[in-house]
Amino acid sequence: MLGLMQSQPLLISALITHAERHHGDGEIVSRRVEGDLHRYTWRDVGQRARQVANALDAEQLLFSDRVATLAWNGYRHLELYFGVSGSGRVLHTINPRLHPDQVAWIANHAEDQVLCFELSFLPLVQAVHARCGTIKKYVALCGPDQLPKDSGIPHLVSYEDWIGGRPSTYDWPTFDENSASSMCYTSGTTGNPKAALYSHRSTILHAFAACLPDVMALSARDSVLPVVPMFHVNAWGIPYSAALTGCKLVFPGAALDGKSVYELMEQEGVTFAAGVPTVWQMLLGHVKQNHLRFSTLKRTVIGGSACPPAMIDAFREEYGVDVLHAWGMTEMSPLGTLCTLKNKHLAMSPDEQMKIRLKQGRAIFGVDMKIVGDDGNELPWDGKTYGDLYVRGPWVVREYFKGEGGDPLVDGWFPTGDVATIDREGYMQITDRSKDVIKSGGEWISSIDIENIAMAHPAVQMAACVGMRHPKWDERPIVAVVKRPGMEVTREELLKFYEGKIAKWQVPDDVVFVESIPLGATGKMLKTRLRDQLKDYRLPTA
Ligand code: ADP
Repeated sequence: MLGLMQSQPLLISALITHAERHHGDGEIVSRRVEGDLHRYTWRDVGQRARQVANALDAEQLLFSDRVATLAWNGYRHLELYFGVSGSGRVLHTINPRLHPDQVAWIANHAEDQVLCFELSFLPLVQAVHARCGTIKKYVALCGPDQLPKDSGIPHLVSYEDWIGGRPSTYDWPTFDENSASSMCYTSGTTGNPKAALYSHRSTILHAFAACLPDVMALSARDSVLPVVPMFHVNAWGIPYSAALTGCKLVFPGAALDGKSVYELMEQEGVTFAAGVPTVWQMLLGHVKQNHLRFSTLKRTVIGGSACPPAMIDAFREEYGVDVLHAWGMTEMSPLGTLCTLKNKHLAMSPDEQMKIRLKQGRAIFGVDMKIVGDDGNELPWDGKTYGDLYVRGPWVVREYFKGEGGDPLVDGWFPTGDVATIDREGYMQITDRSKDVIKSGGEWISSIDIENIAMAHPAVQMAACVGMRHPKWDERPIVAVVKRPGMEVTREELLKFYEGKIAKWQVPDDVVFVESIPLGATGKMLKTRLRDQLKDYRLPTA
């Protein structure tokens, strides 16, 4: 016997329809590339998203055709999120920090038909358009007055001209909720990039889950600033969850330095923000240097790479801002786990609580996880045994776009490429990416632990730990360190700093001071490039 409830497909168009009807005057504030602030409402987003849908119809784009963006976090990008997916096309957000060759490769692989780009990426588009055979229309995200002349780009139109004058009415189509809605390529540190192809259903379920109190706890009372880019796994799904709750959205555009982000937060009463640790490092640096306070910010989700304890501490203890450590990946839409305490933890000492907060957290309902050993068998949840982390769930990939890379699943589970422990309470902690793990004398050393300790030293701005070949031990860890401007620390002092914090054999063999640590397209440390830079380095202990 089937239940007798209505069956309506879960579609992205329902999100924008809801936001318009129930939060029509809710504000969206965007810093534009020009530097000024643009303000309008969810009602405007809805109207203009429908104009986008009409523009795509006029281009004769078919169901599931791909529309690419090279854009910052801003209102026009938001309109594309809903106009493209809502009308049944697939939004392909391209990471503009990728190499032009990669951008061209991705656009061809996705068979993008339209490319909407921010003027700041004009040189990139000029460099790649001749190689992007499937793109038949280029749309610059600007008004007609700002449209560059003699750009050399064919079929170029300004966004305002493209959607302007089109009807703001449109009947959002109804179709199978499993239809593709958007796509995102993984950064592809090995081999060619592969795309996760999200569906309407996976996106809506993920949007619901993200709003749960033990996840991002988004509500209509929040003012939300996603620093995480809309080209990085859909800004962790925040645009969708924002429409679902009707919260205020604040977009930082291209100005991601500490000062700009701080000023925007204060000015727009931001209560919730999300980003990778490297961005928060800049924000905290600015706030500290200028003796500022956060007057409205209550909580921040930090994920994408391990959040150093010193950062959690600074936000909580010095500024009263709750840090929610999160873990996920492109293949997971991206949310997998988030760290909040359970009732039983509330009576613990702050130090004990901190040990939990440092972990990547508990699985969100909808995500199932396990750790397995080399033999493929599941390992115990004791908080000590580490193994390969596998996940499954309705917003986890089943297969990559065009079947790239073959079947990624093992018995229905997706191997994340991360190595982790899970404790009795279900809190997962990442030890490493499997390719970054350091194997010393048959034992594993966590590069994250070593980085976290270095980062707790006041003179250290950034630290990256990598393994170096060793004749006896196979590999030994060293730590590359960027010093805070104007502060000093010696190799010996830093090595001494490790004493008592980890086992002796885990202490790095050396400290290498560097000007900077190479960052990838999403702001994460690029250890492959760091290893290249250190290729002539010889271990003092070897
Ligand atoms: P890429 O970095 O390859 O672009 P993703 O953005 O999908 O891909 O990154 C996913 C990976 O980032 C995870 O598999 C994990 O290694 C790492 N990661 C994400 N969040 C965390 C976290 N909180 N702590 C440690 N590692 C994390």
